[in-house]
Amino acid sequence: MYDVIVIGGSFAGLTAALQLGRASRSVLVIDAGLPRNRTSAGAHGVAGWDGIAPAEILGRFRDDLKAYPHLSQRGGKVTAIGGQMGAFSVTLENGEDFAAKRLILAHGVRDILPDVPGLAEGWGRQVLHCPYCHGYEVKGEPLAVFATSHMGAHQALMLRADWSDRVTLITGGMDGLDHAALELAGVQMDSRALEAAQIDESGITLSLSGGDSQRFAALFLGPRTTLAESPAAHLGCALSDGPMGPFVKVGPMAQTSIPGVFAAGDVARPMPNINFAFADGAQAGSGCHASLLFPEIVTPVEAAQ
Ligand SMILES: Cc1cc2nc3c(=O)[nH]c(=O)nc-3n(C[C@H](O)[C@H](O)[C@H](O)COP(=O)(O)OP(=O)(O)OC[C@H]3O[C@@H](n4cnc5c(N)ncnc54)[C@H](O)[C@@H]3O)c2cc1C
Repeated sequence: MYDVIVIGGSFAGLTAALQLGRASRSVLVIDAGLPRNRTSAGAHGVAGWDGIAPAEILGRFRDDLKAYPHLSQRGGKVTAIGGQMGAFSVTLENGEDFAAKRLILAHGVRDILPDVPGLAEGWGRQVLHCPYCHGYEVKGEPLAVFATSHMGAHQALMLRADWSDRVTLITGGMDGLDHAALELAGVQMDSRALEAAQIDESGITLSLSGGDSQRFAALFLGPRTTLAESPAAHLGCALSDGPMGPFVKVGPMAQTSIPGVFAAGDVARPMPNINFAFADGAQAGSGCHASLLFPEIVTPVEAAQ
């Protein structure tokens, strides 16, 4: 019986484990090894690690945790969870079972890219989700935004304001966009459908309906995210609706609606960012520790809040 099992051993999960390891609590981190930004050459905007490859940051972090004898890390995918606070059971894909008094969910979310050939191949390199993370590297270049929702207009306005004066919003004919305001802000509008993307080392060529193609340094888009079939979904944690998909509701100690279950990182917030994941992980680790010591002060978050 571990004190805590952390499901997901990336930025949020390892930080949560570190807090608990420093309290000499027995912790098992289980990680399927697919952090959300794994395709990026470098993670940006990360305190002390700007531009370093995600795998390198995480590798260094995993090594740091080896100093804590009560903390174990293993690979594997959690496919089933049972029990309750004080005695949870966690089952891996290969059938192995583990037990813990508390759980921390740090398994992130899954991006659902639009079904356009070529986008998946460029994801994290020439197909980007966030100006703060990767906009600086393409600033001043011709940039496209693919409107997968009305958030596309927001992204185009941001990029046009502070990253490039050559921003094209590809709308595919989406209704409800304020074309006049976007054009006034200097965003070029293209209502054709995006049919395919071809990436290469220096940019991306977009094939648009009607047979034309256009070249850009990068394409930005906001994919929908899902928690389907995740541990949070198996447990039935209460969710909130974010602009790109659902996320787990948490209280100020990172507690979820399920007693004894905590959540941190992308699984529990609408805006993905490594610094936030570190902060959330620290909160979940200390909140979970408080729950082990003083269970009466950590009450589950209300589903309706
Ligand atoms: C393409 C891209 C580039 C990005 N670039 C940046 C950037 O430059 N800077 C920045 O600050 N942010 C960036 N982000 C956001 C950043 O990647 C996330 O905010 C961050 O990874 C969230 O950390 P996390 O620990 O919550 O989840 P993740 O990093 O997604 O890690 C979740 C971990 O849980 C594991 N897992 C999932 N399900 C299970 C299961 N059932 N059992 C066991 N393990 C499981 C996964 O395999 C994964 O290892 C980027 C995002 C994307 C999509």
